[in-house]
Amino acid sequence: MAKGNIGVTSDNIFPVIKKFLYSDHEIFLRELISNAVDATQKLKTLSSVGEAKGDLGDLRVRVSIDKEKKTLTVSDHGIGMTAEEVDKFINQIAFSGAEEFLNQYKDKAEAIIGHFGLGFYSAFMVSKKVEIFSQSYKEDAKAVHWSCEGTPEYTMEETIKAERGTDIVLHIDDEFPQYLENATIEGLLRKYCKFLPVEIAFGKKKEWKDGKEVELDEENIINDINPAWTRKPSELKDEDYDKFYHELYPMQMDEPLFHIHLNVDYPFNLTGILYFPKIKSNLDVHRNKIQLYCNQVYVTDEVENIVPEYLTLLHGVIDSPDIPLNVSRSYLQSDNNVKKISGYITKKVADKLAELYKADKDEFAKKWDDIKMFIQFGMLTDEKFYEKATGFALYKNLDGKYATLDEYKAQVKEAQTDKDGNLVLLYTNDPDAHYTYIERAKAKGYDVLLMDGELDVHMMSQAEQKAMMAETDGQTDKLRFVRIDSDTIENLIKKEDAAKDEYSAEQKEGLRKAFEALLPTAEDKLRYTVTCEAAAADALPVFLTQNEFMRRMKEMAAHQQGMSFYGQMPDSYNLVLNTSHPLIQELVGKETAEEVQEEVEKDGKKETVVKTAYKLDGEDERMKQLIDIALLASGQLKGEALAKFVNRSVELL
Ligand code: ADP
Repeated sequence: MAKGNIGVTSDNIFPVIKKFLYSDHEIFLRELISNAVDATQKLKTLSSVGEAKGDLGDLRVRVSIDKEKKTLTVSDHGIGMTAEEVDKFINQIAFSGAEEFLNQYKDKAEAIIGHFGLGFYSAFMVSKKVEIFSQSYKEDAKAVHWSCEGTPEYTMEETIKAERGTDIVLHIDDEFPQYLENATIEGLLRKYCKFLPVEIAFGKKKEWKDGKEVELDEENIINDINPAWTRKPSELKDEDYDKFYHELYPMQMDEPLFHIHLNVDYPFNLTGILYFPKIKSNLDVHRNKIQLYCNQVYVTDEVENIVPEYLTLLHGVIDSPDIPLNVSRSYLQSDNNVKKISGYITKKVADKLAELYKADKDEFAKKWDDIKMFIQFGMLTDEKFYEKATGFALYKNLDGKYATLDEYKAQVKEAQTDKDGNLVLLYTNDPDAHYTYIERAKAKGYDVLLMDGELDVHMMSQAEQKAMMAETDGQTDKLRFVRIDSDTIENLIKKEDAAKDEYSAEQKEGLRKAFEALLPTAEDKLRYTVTCEAAAADALPVFLTQNEFMRRMKEMAAHQQGMSFYGQMPDSYNLVLNTSHPLIQELVGKETAEEVQEEVEKDGKKETVVKTAYKLDGEDERMKQLIDIALLASGQLKGEALAKFVNRSVELL
């Protein structure tokens, strides 16, 4: 028996392995099984070129637990190792690599966690002793038994092993009894080995029979060795893609909307399938994540730094040996390969969407509501995606018709361009509340968009900005989105100079003041101003409008940090007195001004001030009614105020 010292300088390297990798020690199993799979694949390759002779026989990798001996064994029938190879690969190279690795990342435990690099030696994270029994495929090679107890000393001796291949026997540390539990090991195998290219067997298949779980004679195979992403798209039908989706996410009930098969081998190697899930709310966005594999070995489902953020809303797998895994997250973002990969995926996704839209616009429109959040998120965060997505990002109007922005602009251009050349797009986020405004717009032959999505306000702002920057014929495109209730329709799309009334400024001021005096006392979050305007004679006598800019800023503030200034502003509304309406015209000139004394508190002292109060004699009830009608028409009359309105209406009748 040979004894020796592992080629390292530090005695403390084993405790270091345990300490640094403590939080993610389960990866040891992935590492050992990857080695077993590699050894098996190498044998297949050697056999195909005639270097390994004869029938290869059973090539399954087996994982087994011996509870009495407290061992966990990974066995393969791969190429195996000769004594010289164990010396070279295990005693020397592997370990010096590990030491270098640990030195490099001493201060960054996080960078090590979950990443490749430790390979075989990660077994010592959970074992007090590790043994290797190996029989090389090489003719005349003697089997070798290597043993090490987590110190720099090892023993190596010749042994007898009936079958070609390697058994790695882990004597599990008392600290980690969970790795001797079937359920834990099966769980880890399903997590890391689900799609490995060589069959992995763990125990026997079980079945429920007469209320009992019974073992069948068949081995329990953990993995699908030909997962859909490794196959040619031409071999796969839609059903195969759907089936694979459920294999990937067994808890997911919904079918995906569509998929994209990724396949590139230059300038980097990447395969995978991405699925567009039905996203119903923000809540279930991150329940299932894209899984990252490296040659079919599961690596992580944290792909935030590898694909653009909005693409993390997709489901599926990405498999690439070219994503550096031994580096920190911040480095990953600046890595050139990763940038290229991210760009490639963006392009593929955009191309696929464009293709789907072109192939069948109606079918695409049907799916739009389910995918719009993802596409809008992409447009708002990724310039390259934005450029492509304008060709298939849809807007929906109140009749449920969909169009891209360019298509829609062409449709409404003639009717909705105002006298200054602005193309005004009207929208609502609440058709019920805005009913009266919508009817008035429709009566003028205008179209109204439904913009009730979480990102719609941002989308509109972005489209306006882009239009402002885009020049056509030396002129910038003037595009404005306005919510249907933000002003009178005549003011929203001004066709000619504003109509004028024949009332004097004083008359209107008196009218304004009189109404102001009757407005509901401004709560903190609500503020009203009053203006007179000669709107259409058939418009309401009094109505509310809300400034588009302020409202939009407030809405965006609700979703965005750094905009809380707008968020804190009170909601302000404008009460418009329509001087073209007979009911208002009847009131003009009836106001009286009266000096009243009012007690106010100033610096803790009570003071009496003289104020001018405007009134319309005998018209209070009618004015209140008019104000309430305006509030009612914009969905703001509620609770006690609504009850008062109802009672007053009955009395008036
Ligand atoms: P890596 O796999 O990253 O090269 P490891 O420490 O896991 O590093 O393994 C070192 C070497 O030991 C491997 O490259 C391989 O040559 C050899 N080896 C490990 N496990 C096996 C195995 N089950 N069968 C044959 N060779 C193996």
